[in-house]
Amino acid sequence: MITRETQTIGPRRNIRAKRVLFVFNSNEHLGVTWLSATLKAAGHDVRLAFDPQPFRGEPLVRIEPLVRLLDCTDHIVKTAKEFDPDVICYSCYTDNFRWMLATASAIKRALPRTVNVFGGVHVLAAPEATMSYPQVDAVVLGESFEALPELVAAVEMGHVPPGIPNVWSRDGNEIVRNSIRPYFDDLDCLPIRDFTLFYDQVPAMETNYLTMTSLGCPQSCSFCSVEMYNRTYAEIGDRRRVRRRSVEHVMAELRAVKARGRVRQVSFMDAIFTLNRNWLEDFLDAYREEIGLPFWAYTYPGLVNRELAEGLAGAGCRMITMGVQSGSRKIRRSSMNRSETGDRIQGTADTLRSAGIQLAVDKIIGSPGETAADRKQDIELFRSLHPDRLLTFPLSYYPGTSLVPQGVDAGIFTEEEASRLEHGDLSPQPTRGPMIEAPLAYRAQRILLAMIPLPGGHRRSLDRWVWRLAHLPGSEMVERFLVALNALRIGDTKFTYLVRLTIAQMWMSIHRRIRPGAGRPDPRRNASQVSDSIDLRREVESIAGNPPSDTMTRTSG
Ligand code: SF4
Repeated sequence: MITRETQTIGPRRNIRAKRVLFVFNSNEHLGVTWLSATLKAAGHDVRLAFDPQPFRGEPLVRIEPLVRLLDCTDHIVKTAKEFDPDVICYSCYTDNFRWMLATASAIKRALPRTVNVFGGVHVLAAPEATMSYPQVDAVVLGESFEALPELVAAVEMGHVPPGIPNVWSRDGNEIVRNSIRPYFDDLDCLPIRDFTLFYDQVPAMETNYLTMTSLGCPQSCSFCSVEMYNRTYAEIGDRRRVRRRSVEHVMAELRAVKARGRVRQVSFMDAIFTLNRNWLEDFLDAYREEIGLPFWAYTYPGLVNRELAEGLAGAGCRMITMGVQSGSRKIRRSSMNRSETGDRIQGTADTLRSAGIQLAVDKIIGSPGETAADRKQDIELFRSLHPDRLLTFPLSYYPGTSLVPQGVDAGIFTEEEASRLEHGDLSPQPTRGPMIEAPLAYRAQRILLAMIPLPGGHRRSLDRWVWRLAHLPGSEMVERFLVALNALRIGDTKFTYLVRLTIAQMWMSIHRRIRPGAGRPDPRRNASQVSDSIDLRREVESIAGNPPSDTMTRTSG
């Protein structure tokens, strides 16, 4: 039995320490670990209820029957009941929003006085839609570093007091809507993130250490949620797009995780790791001296010169991902709001490769207005880049991005369908648009793109054969096979990590499903427990229905 105590919390005294539960699925979440560290530093008891969901699209693939078979929502509810938290935090992106709603609904029935708080990128895009669900007691809009600790400290007896900036809450039937505050200023004030929150449950995650040295991005690509953040904060007069931690602050974190002895590689998740050359040169010196682990990062066309590329390689950079997204300048400019030229993309690719860094490039297919001529330019540019890895993602329309009005204008979906995106219904995406009008052309394009990194895979003579191959049933699997084959060929450690993580999370899900009280109906459980579990699974399946089959859930520079 957990007892509630009165403790000293931060600068304020006699505030009761709260129990806070984070609910998350599929993968490690940097924001959750930072918020957990901040809440723990303030004296609160923080835990994580994690559903591994290894086949929900993250970390690697989506396989719908396995999503249902390995669903662990009732384990989440059981964890919540045992912990009996004051506040439960749900970090939402559009793809997991409906699962979060279903889980929050089940928890609300079991713990009616616990405050369900929704936050994350989807909530900033659709606060009204989020608050339209009765299981949501409050939302935190934008960055939560200050707002969430204030909310947790203020919650009493299931009630969120009004007046906390960034927070919307309920007052009877009314919704109290507070405006957002400017971005949190001094990232060096943040404690070292609470990485054990996830690693204690999924130790395999620790081999690929994720971190960020900066927050934000100076670009405003139309398909990316960063553009929505830039726009939202500009409306309150905060035009800072990038905030950065000091070299020493990042190094303190990396020293701490390296001392645990399990990390094999570091992934810098900054939108553009190479943005600030002076900062990066200082950081690379320190990293090379004290950490020395292989690492991976994102860059943007035009933001790496030869000296920097050599510095990155010398410090252990094995691979850099550059978002190219389209070979057509017209599509980059008019659909994606990206102004770089083909020459600039080519120059950055050549610079990285000549420094001995593996080049990974991303390509988004199916942009509004994309034609056969644009697809031809795609193939030409990507062949000339000679990437070591090339991944394609069908375009996804996420609420709050400026791409959604473009999709409506292009007749890809209606206003009504666009508003359904705000409720996490991604089903309009695959029903219309260029990929639906020319499915064979896109299937052939994906195969051709996947062949490019392979030896001889950029030959024009392949085009005719691939076009024939695209007509065969099941040919969409060819692209995935080629991507996996190439990953093994180049020794892509991120790919092998994701395979290991998927296997670890699958075993974790199976274990939870067969444990009495946490998974499949067990004969020792009484009839009402079994019936609760079946009802919950039905609810999750019905609320979480209509998922996209293959959506882009990450952005890249
Ligand atoms: S896609 Fe990348 S470069 Fe573009 S806005 Fe998003 S994070 Fe920035």
